[in-house]
Amino acid sequence: MAPHVKIKPRLWQIMTLNTGFRPITTESRYRGRFAPSPTGPLHLGSLMAAIGSWLLARHARGEWLIRIEDVDTPRCIAGIEEDQLRTLAGFGLHSDLPVIRQSARQEAYRAALQSLLNTGDAFRCRCSRSDLRDTGGIHRHCVSQPSGHAEAIRLRIPDGLAIAIDDAVQGHFVQALDRDVGDFVLFRSDALWAYQLAVVVDDAAQQITHVVRGADLLDSAPRQRFLQQRLALPTTHYSHLPLVLDSDGNKLSKSSLALPVDGKNPIPAMSAVWGLLGQIEPIKVASPEAWLLEAVRRFDPLKIPRSTSTGSCPPCHGRV
Ligand SMILES: [Zn+2]
Repeated sequence: MAPHVKIKPRLWQIMTLNTGFRPITTESRYRGRFAPSPTGPLHLGSLMAAIGSWLLARHARGEWLIRIEDVDTPRCIAGIEEDQLRTLAGFGLHSDLPVIRQSARQEAYRAALQSLLNTGDAFRCRCSRSDLRDTGGIHRHCVSQPSGHAEAIRLRIPDGLAIAIDDAVQGHFVQALDRDVGDFVLFRSDALWAYQLAVVVDDAAQQITHVVRGADLLDSAPRQRFLQQRLALPTTHYSHLPLVLDSDGNKLSKSSLALPVDGKNPIPAMSAVWGLLGQIEPIKVASPEAWLLEAVRRFDPLKIPRSTSTGSCPPCHGRV
């Protein structure tokens, strides 16, 4: 090839260049991840996502990574990332590859956003929250005289666009992106990257094949699938773990789920997660490492319920 010919790398290659990510191996066609935000100590809900994603990865003889989602910097608390990693280590959970942080990934997000601006899929917008009051916050067109001071960048959602996700736990889930979500934000008016863009870019760069996380994020999956399509990135599979209900069938309050878990006394919380994941027979071992080994041996993904109740979790005694 003539030396003056410049090869234009695909966005996918730009995002993975010089990042040191190890490509997924042929033996392991499954790569999962746990991606906590350093906004508070790990709680039972986050531990369920950590152990659930780890179990599904190991059940498939796959890899499991930890990624720190510190893109929303004002909400991040100093020292919490270290605390979360220490807690995970207390549960015997370690990333198979070096932990990455979204705060160090600005270049990759910028490249993705620029490519969406270049294709006209993304656009600049000054509509403020109050400008969108009449449409319930759903953005379909910029108002004639936007009142926002700073610009945000949104993804254009075509009229009539519905995205279906076949979730391994929650089943078939369809969302009318135009009606229910609208043109959503990729770069915020406060100059921060939006979660949706960061997650999609990072999952692709880390070659994540399976996204396993809490059911509260199910309604983000269609947005992420559509962004993957617009960026020509590989599609990920989804498993949204059960919603946790109290013994009366009500959604457990955030504050109940937010009680921190103790990495120094891991077995009770691991037993609670085991029950919440629909795995009935208790595991009686002394160390978290032995617990994980035994859990992989016994784990049955088909038993994971769509929702779960603290009442069906003997180790919790109805409490978490
Ligand atoms: Zn607008």
